[in-house]
Amino acid sequence: MDYPTVSLRRNWLGIVVSAAMIGLPVTALADVTFQYEVAAVEPEQESGYSEKPGWATERFAVAAANPLATDAGYQVLRAGGSAVDAAIAVQMVLTLVEPQSSGIGGGAFLMYYDGSDVTAFDGRETAPRAASESLFLNGDGEPLEFMDAVASGLSVGVPGTVRMLEMAHDEHGKLPWAELFAPAITLAEEGFHVSHRLHTSLAGDEWLRDDALAGNFYYTEEGEPLEEGHLLKNPALASILRKIAENGSKAMHTGDIAEDLVQRVQGHPERPGAISLEDMATYVARQRDPICSDWQAYRVCGFPPPSSGQLTIMQILGTMEHLPELLTPLEEGQPSVEWLHRFLEASRLAFADRAKYIADPDFVEAPGGSWSTMLDPDYLALRAEHIEDQSMGPDGASPGNPGDVETSWAIQPNQPESGTSHISIIDEDGNGLAMTTTIESAFGSRMLADGGTGQPGGYLLNNELTDFSFRPLDADGTPIANRVEASKRPRSSMSPTLVFDRESEELIASLGSPGGAAIIHYTAKALVAMLDWGLNAQEALNLPHAITLGGPAFLEEGRFDTAVLDALNERGHDASERELTSGLQAIMKTEEGFFGGADPRREGVVMGD
Ligand code: GLU
Repeated sequence: MDYPTVSLRRNWLGIVVSAAMIGLPVTALADVTFQYEVAAVEPEQESGYSEKPGWATERFAVAAANPLATDAGYQVLRAGGSAVDAAIAVQMVLTLVEPQSSGIGGGAFLMYYDGSDVTAFDGRETAPRAASESLFLNGDGEPLEFMDAVASGLSVGVPGTVRMLEMAHDEHGKLPWAELFAPAITLAEEGFHVSHRLHTSLAGDEWLRDDALAGNFYYTEEGEPLEEGHLLKNPALASILRKIAENGSKAMHTGDIAEDLVQRVQGHPERPGAISLEDMATYVARQRDPICSDWQAYRVCGFPPPSSGQLTIMQILGTMEHLPELLTPLEEGQPSVEWLHRFLEASRLAFADRAKYIADPDFVEAPGGSWSTMLDPDYLALRAEHIEDQSMGPDGASPGNPGDVETSWAIQPNQPESGTSHISIIDEDGNGLAMTTTIESAFGSRMLADGGTGQPGGYLLNNELTDFSFRPLDADGTPIANRVEASKRPRSSMSPTLVFDRESEELIASLGSPGGAAIIHYTAKALVAMLDWGLNAQEALNLPHAITLGGPAFLEEGRFDTAVLDALNERGHDASERELTSGLQAIMKTEEGFFGGADPRREGVVMGD
């Protein structure tokens, strides 16, 4: 096997495992049998910002946030699996090796192009039926401390990732479901080496140790985090995955695994949550129409509400289209001050709309009856008139009136978000997939669940419900669109994106990122860099970041000249530096095949043939 990369060292004299060998039923969907090969030597990854080469492939490609996960997807594609098949294998391995970011205890959005149509699969976590708008308020009606809410049973939403993958597999799977679990089960049983990022995340977390199961599993008796390179086995997760492999999502949503989840959430020692067995059993994944927007020569398809991703990205890019042409968007290989100013101003305007209008569409009507009002070129032309040489500054941007209707929602204040993982895949048949998957913050609600197995390990429960507004009303008593309601899905920023050439209608890119609300800026800038500035997928992801959610602006620490920071501050941006740890993954079509990039700020790699 030949990997077009310089950063991986692999010895492939590994063990070959087929689903049948590890006792999984192999229901025949296709005559191809998938045999998973365990890498004997895992790739080493550096910490911090590590240069990546970018990866050229000819027929297919898979990009994910951890080399073992990418490799599982690669092997599935090589065995003739579809992009959805590969995503399932990738997600199950991520649950094991990148437990801080995503897993079967969380939710996900998956965009899929099957050669003619694009579908948006929604596996977002939902609030339990017993949840009310006072979920995150204390006895005095004041919001809980943010981390008290996160590390609790209150924040756990009914997970949706497994149901969503099953729905996507029913429609677009080629290999049998059970086989796709072989990589994760094998690695969980034989062990994998704790990566630098997992070690660092464990070391930096203040809450996970307090959970009895997680404290025993991820930390030593002295409370030290498992070292990088430690061979970690996860027998509880292996048995949970076996059950899901054999019986599908009903094994997760009913029976032992669901009962254990409910007991843990309801049994949280300080702040129990309300998820019931009925909530678990009745969870449904959804199929939604994606929002596809014309931008320059491209059609950009992204996730509709409950995600704010696509609407906000396209508001930013669409607003910038109405500004006079900029001759120097890039200066010495970096975004110029003028481009950054415009991008930040357009972000201020778009985030003001986002804070007012966007929430679960089953609960909240789009302004003017359709989300397209927010992207109407005439509306965005009006918004662009607010952009001048001087910044509107922190809190200078107000929401507009898309669709020309007064909507009586209050503005949601910003809340922290972090965590998450992104997967991009294009298979040999030309099907394209972009999936962003999350348990919300790093290690979610800081509760490990062992599925009732009584064995060491398990999977982490999400804290997705803290993506709702803690306050249901503003100071005037006006309701906030994204307030907690029973069985509602919290607003997201996740932006799995598929791009098409408008003329040829060909799929040309798949991309996305973690990063909380900054997912929107990371993805928007990567789109501009790849499609407008002509950078390849790796160069585009390497560019330094600049973000604002409407208040102060932040530049990625140590990546810009101080003159850039000074110039933005002179223009009123209240800018400072800070870490901006995106986790972008992108695959782009080229004349020879594909070129993939993985974020130098994390451990991801791209593989393909
Ligand atoms: N929970 C966030 C969302 O759904 C994502 C968190 C992150 O990526 O950091 O938008």
